[in-house]
Amino acid sequence: MPLIIVTGLPTSGKSTRAAQLHKYLSTKIVDSKYRLHLISDDALSISRTVYDLSPSAVPAHTRSANASEKDARASIYGAVKRVLSDKDIVILDGMNYIKGWRYQLHCEAKALRTPSCILQIGCTVDRAKQVNTERLENKDSKQPEAYDRSNWENLVFRYEEPNPMTRWDSPLFTMIWEDDEAQATKTFDSMWDAIAGEGRKIIRPNQ
Ligand code: ADP
Repeated sequence: MPLIIVTGLPTSGKSTRAAQLHKYLSTKIVDSKYRLHLISDDALSISRTVYDLSPSAVPAHTRSANASEKDARASIYGAVKRVLSDKDIVILDGMNYIKGWRYQLHCEAKALRTPSCILQIGCTVDRAKQVNTERLENKDSKQPEAYDRSNWENLVFRYEEPNPMTRWDSPLFTMIWEDDEAQATKTFDSMWDAIAGEGRKIIRPNQ
């Protein structure tokens, strides 16, 4: 079963949609042989600070500015690899903003002869920024960790948009902030069809 790679700007609503998709798929796979997994930075206790490349934010013991991010990616990769199989659906909730990283995940799925797809969370930069600003202002509330302002800006700058013309970024499904429940279900239905239903492509190792 497939790997669903969520991608989008920081604080653009990725976890909200991943949870919605998880709920949708839970009902879809009931009484089937399939298992469902949701992997995210939060589930793996990966802090937002690992993405921070500013010299002041880099702990003294780390080897280079992005060593902690590389370590984080290694643990995400390990977590995906441990569960992904033809009987397991994995929703990978994260920015997944580097195209080479999405390529690597795509290859991992292909090696297991299971499909992968991308769920892009479309959100304006202003809206996403507003969410992070609100989180920064309410730091002690129960909401998820905020990104430091410069870390957030930097991640937006570094974000590599998925390109559906490439093998590793397709099929590509897009949701926007305004999508209501009905529209979300429509997107999830076509995703299900492409990765598990009639539209599922046969995976050949040399494709
Ligand atoms: P991310 O996972 O990208 O950091 P979250 O899913 O945590 O983002 O969403 C950030 C905030 O925006 C949350 O408070 C969430 O409730 C809100 N939110 C996310 N998506 C939507 C949406 N489509 N409509 C309204 N509020 C949303």
